[in-house]
Amino acid sequence: DSTHEPLPIRLLQEAVINRIAAGEIIHRPASALKELIENCLDAGATSIRITVKDGGLKLLQIQDDGCGIRKSDLPILAERFTTSKISSFSDLSKLTTYGFRGEALASISYVANLTVTTKIKTDSCAWKACYENGKLVPVKDSMRAEPKAAAGTDGTTIAVENMFYNTPNRLSALRSSAEEYGRILDVVTKYAVHNPHVAFTCKKTSTTTPDVTTPSASTVPLAIRQLYGQTIAKELLRVNVTGTEDSVDDISVAAWSAEAYFTSANYQAKKTVLLLFINHRLVESPHIRKALETIYTGIIPKGSSPFVYLSMQLDPRSVDVNVHPTKREVHFLNEEAIINRICDKVQESLISQSQSRIFEYQQ
Ligand code: ADP
Ligand code: MG
Repeated sequence: DSTHEPLPIRLLQEAVINRIAAGEIIHRPASALKELIENCLDAGATSIRITVKDGGLKLLQIQDDGCGIRKSDLPILAERFTTSKISSFSDLSKLTTYGFRGEALASISYVANLTVTTKIKTDSCAWKACYENGKLVPVKDSMRAEPKAAAGTDGTTIAVENMFYNTPNRLSALRSSAEEYGRILDVVTKYAVHNPHVAFTCKKTSTTTPDVTTPSASTVPLAIRQLYGQTIAKELLRVNVTGTEDSVDDISVAAWSAEAYFTSANYQAKKTVLLLFINHRLVESPHIRKALETIYTGIIPKGSSPFVYLSMQLDPRSVDVNVHPTKREVHFLNEEAIINRICDKVQESLISQSQSRIFEYQQ
């Protein structure tokens, strides 16, 4: 109201700024895990083992057999905007890695206790480093804020403990450990389907039996069978679609390709399961989800839904991953036309497989 005096505008403390920024990237344990899995894949891992306590809020640990991190890089590892993946703005247009902003580990260190144990092949031992608020802090039982020699195998283990200990609002907004663990399993399962050459395991600390475990030399359909079950796997249809170089509003769009596995009209679920990968990144697109669901209307009964795995490979120059801080929603050039091409192919395949059923439903 008009009786209010304006308050002075002040610059927030850096730690507060960083914690707010971190909260935009790390919403919950599953969003931290997604970033950490992407780092393992960027490091060339063939095995990724995840251990979880209390839905990831007490502990989220991820061990890979990737390239490791040099000891000399450890001091700046968790600072904001430190990355090994790009060095100039133009690098963004030829991006082939998941990461590039150097914000994931920094963000995690602002909202949790972060411990990194890593070994590169040429080192004789592993190094362990702990971080808080972007900076090295002493490893347990040590006085100095520096990496400490440790036992370890080639690769990197990242432990995230006490997530959101310093942001109680965020902590209380999360409903239950069971729900957070469910979301963690969902992320692991989807990445495991998309990366059948990588062995994934995910388990709780309280047990030795993993909830997800995949072999290393699998294929996408085998992984779907193993992780989503035979009922889905036996109804899968597959299409491959490619687009040639094109020009939209004077901007040239390079060739693209897409691969999809989707259930036939014989399968009906309550809710759509969509695994959408664009340039190997798990993303959300309400638009693509809707377009796919629309194809199934009239093919499967009202109120039932399909399972769809769709992996699109687009020219990195045409993809804008920067619309969302978590890089989760993406937009790309020629979106409408590309989606239409894919949907047409899916529809064609569904129709030819289920002519008789469509006839049945139209009676
Ligand atoms: P980004 O992935 O955007 O570069 P991150 O904060 O996720 O930023 O990681 C910072 C850097 O730490 C990476 O560029 C990479 O060099 C290194 N790194 C992180 N995780 C791993 C890992 N599991 N194996 C090897 N290097 C890693
Ligand atoms: Mg990263």
